[in-house]
Amino acid sequence: MLIISINAGSSSLKWQLFQMPAKKVIAKGMIDRLGTEQAEFKVSYGQGQKFKQTEAILTKESAATLVLTRLKSLKIVEHLEAIKGVGHRVVSGGEVFDRSTVIDDHVLLQIENFSELAPLHNRTEAYFVRVFRDLLPQACQVAVFDNAFFAHLDPINYLYPIDKKYYDQYQVRKYGAHGTSHRYVTLRAAELLDKPVTETSLITLHLGSGASVSAIKSGQALDTSMGFTPLAGIMMGTRSGDIDPSIIPYIMEKEHLTDVREVIKALNNQSGLLGVSGLSNDKRDIDAAAAAGNQRAQLAQEMFNNRIVKYVGSYWALLGKTPDALIFTAGIGENDQGVRLAVGQALAHLGVKIDPQANDMRGQERLISTPDSQVKVYVIPTNEELMIAQDTYDLTAKE
Ligand code: AMP
Repeated sequence: MLIISINAGSSSLKWQLFQMPAKKVIAKGMIDRLGTEQAEFKVSYGQGQKFKQTEAILTKESAATLVLTRLKSLKIVEHLEAIKGVGHRVVSGGEVFDRSTVIDDHVLLQIENFSELAPLHNRTEAYFVRVFRDLLPQACQVAVFDNAFFAHLDPINYLYPIDKKYYDQYQVRKYGAHGTSHRYVTLRAAELLDKPVTETSLITLHLGSGASVSAIKSGQALDTSMGFTPLAGIMMGTRSGDIDPSIIPYIMEKEHLTDVREVIKALNNQSGLLGVSGLSNDKRDIDAAAAAGNQRAQLAQEMFNNRIVKYVGSYWALLGKTPDALIFTAGIGENDQGVRLAVGQALAHLGVKIDPQANDMRGQERLISTPDSQVKVYVIPTNEELMIAQDTYDLTAKE
């Protein structure tokens, strides 16, 4: 059965076509700069074949149509009717969805209604659901919610210590983010540990441009560093992570700002690695500058590691026991040996020992702790697309 996973952003569309249940990637691609005359359309398929073209792709309809027509013209699929399921990454399922769900009209309306919680994402994602529903009427459309993995947090962990009316009236709470990634590495870690997932306790570190740390107890999320929005938690590429909220009016006063959204924008777009270093939000640039002696880049590196250590330490305590493993994933988690080594060294007093050789290897899934480390440490490349395809396949097969 062919299943396509869709990850739609405001100016990009990423997709992967899977043969399920074999979990085989038949083709994958993306459109960048969607909505412009110079959109970039890229596909890789077959035995390393590639297709790339820069062209005008002005609407979401034309983007989706182009993906499907190219699937046919490149002979990746013979008939579009062979695509039986379309899995959509949806950023917010609010408090309603605790699992992936077949999308009917009612679900689609709810996705649109959650736009307040994820203004940059849900509306676009819902729009693409409508587009693909029109283009592939035979296929089952499935929503895979990014925060569903955190739907079962205990109120002790998801409520903020503020007047409870804000939760009761406006649903102000921790929703979490990157749930599909934390869920994927949790399932994969249980396999690697050879334990039932329901008996697996972990601390999972999704370190990409956006970054979050989660505590996993008995295979379920216990707590996570992302909050009401993805601005909370550890330091990120351009986002501050946790700060004292009193800083916001103080900066407004000092900078003579009248619109609070300007400060929130700065916390989202001009902070984190970029803000501290003054150089870049890209960890590779920070690492290169730090190695060349740039002190602000070194400070950004150290602050980035320090925030991670603080979260891991607090989640270790919250779990109430030594976790079975720490898991590093996403762009920085998978590729930056310096972060893994620094975090491992800071946790040495808790029995963590990183094997420098395994840590320095590149790319693949592997154990990076020494045999005498009291907790295993793994690098597990995340695969949100496979998780989306798997959920979509499971639900499509049931329909
Ligand atoms: P993601 O959002 O998961 O795509 O991750 C993007 C982040 O991963 C960016 O900060 C990149 O600089 C970082 N990254 C990718 N490759 C490397 C690498 N080899 N070393 C350090 N950071 C990397």
